[in-house]
Amino acid sequence: MATFYDTHLHLDYPDFQPDFADVLARARAAGITRLISIGTCFESSRRAIALAEQHAEVFAAVGWHPSDALAAPDDVRPTLRELATHPRVVAIGETGLDYYRMPSAKGGTADDDARYRQKQAAIFRQQLEVAAELKLNCVVHQRGETLDDTFALMQPFAERVRGVFHCFSGTLDALARIRALGSIVSFTGIVTFKNGQNVRDAAAAVPLGEFMLETDGPFLAPIPYRGKRCEPAYVKEIAGAVAQARGCSLEELSRATCDTAHRFFPKLKD
Ligand SMILES: [Zn+2]
Repeated sequence: MATFYDTHLHLDYPDFQPDFADVLARARAAGITRLISIGTCFESSRRAIALAEQHAEVFAAVGWHPSDALAAPDDVRPTLRELATHPRVVAIGETGLDYYRMPSAKGGTADDDARYRQKQAAIFRQQLEVAAELKLNCVVHQRGETLDDTFALMQPFAERVRGVFHCFSGTLDALARIRALGSIVSFTGIVTFKNGQNVRDAAAAVPLGEFMLETDGPFLAPIPYRGKRCEPAYVKEIAGAVAQARGCSLEELSRATCDTAHRFFPKLKD
């Protein structure tokens, strides 16, 4: 059986609490042999580390998500450094920029929007700094019209830190710009959606070695589970859709995406 990794999910979320052992067992049975639980704030990052300590197949990324930027301390670096030196922490993130639902869309002012953007940028830059210091790569979230600002923040770090633009669903032009930065992408269940043709086009176009697979569980369950809780076993459906889009075998896709994950996350164990 071809094996795959779930390089991005939120195993610490309460959605997985009721049947956690079964979720891991189903992932194992589906051939999903590594899971990277992604932190979205310090508490979530600590929970991800705890899960990685308890389960051999689980690793952690530690970071602060842009959507929660206003709740972050002014300087996330000291705590992040401390968390990221843990041997089971393989990356910084998720971090990035999210302009999808700005404060002004929820009754806030233009000043609120500006403050939100500034805080997102500040903690993104801090996380890139810690990644560079500790020689780790970054899990990048970007949503809304953020691509130019994301590139501007990452460019000064491009020699030292690579990003994985997770849940990639952009244009081929965006993909080219990400590759030019030395960064890579990962694909979620959107690649199986009827309206996911642009993602299938990107999955067909991106060279081997420059993409990985993820569920982003508990979100974004692939077809035929769309709308339900997404769990790591479903990487299998995502792999099937990507292999079909590329016209390659599952074995070839397995080798390529797992090798890419080991290069991108050097602390990920064989
Ligand atoms: Zn995520």
